[in-house]
Amino acid sequence: MPGDHIRQGHQMDFLERSYQGKSHDADALVLTCIDFRFPHQIVDYMDSLTPPGKPKITYDHIVLAGASLGVFSGVFPQWATTFWDHLAVSIKLHRIKQVYLLDHRDCGGYREFGALPTTDQAPVGSEIETQIHQHYMDRLAILIRNTHPDLEVISHLLDLPPTASASGSRTNQKGKTTRRGS
Ligand SMILES: [Zn+2]
Repeated sequence: MPGDHIRQGHQMDFLERSYQGKSHDADALVLTCIDFRFPHQIVDYMDSLTPPGKPKITYDHIVLAGASLGVFSGVFPQWATTFWDHLAVSIKLHRIKQVYLLDHRDCGGYREFGALPTTDQAPVGSEIETQIHQHYMDRLAILIRNTHPDLEVISHLLDLPPTASASGSRTNQKGKTTRRGS
């Protein structure tokens, strides 16, 4: 499994011991960017997934700059270990069944890490922006499915909140959701 190579003995013990605490399961683990404009968007999106009359979806939350791209960043390779270890902990402690990969438009992480060109070449809300995010979300979804075939992986590109100003042109394209998995 990704991340195994740097685990210490006591960390392996933690992952291999059966959990002794009081059980409280969650439905999912959510991966998002650090961007300060999106916490409400994330909560609203996750709440919107709950069918009427059903209990709200529950989820653990891991945050990396760039969200999906953060796992692949050559700039901070330790973030990959952080992600895979948190996925393992989330599975162990809360027996999650789904992973949500929530990238967002106008992501400074994507531009800073070189995955997205300038806003002139890839304006906020453009199809090229959508495709680049989908590429990295799909890559991560495949890796998760390869290592954890029981998990359903859902990717979604969040639109800018209505009050946020983009660094490029106005956002004009709805986020897309892709489901991958069982
Ligand atoms: Zn971001």
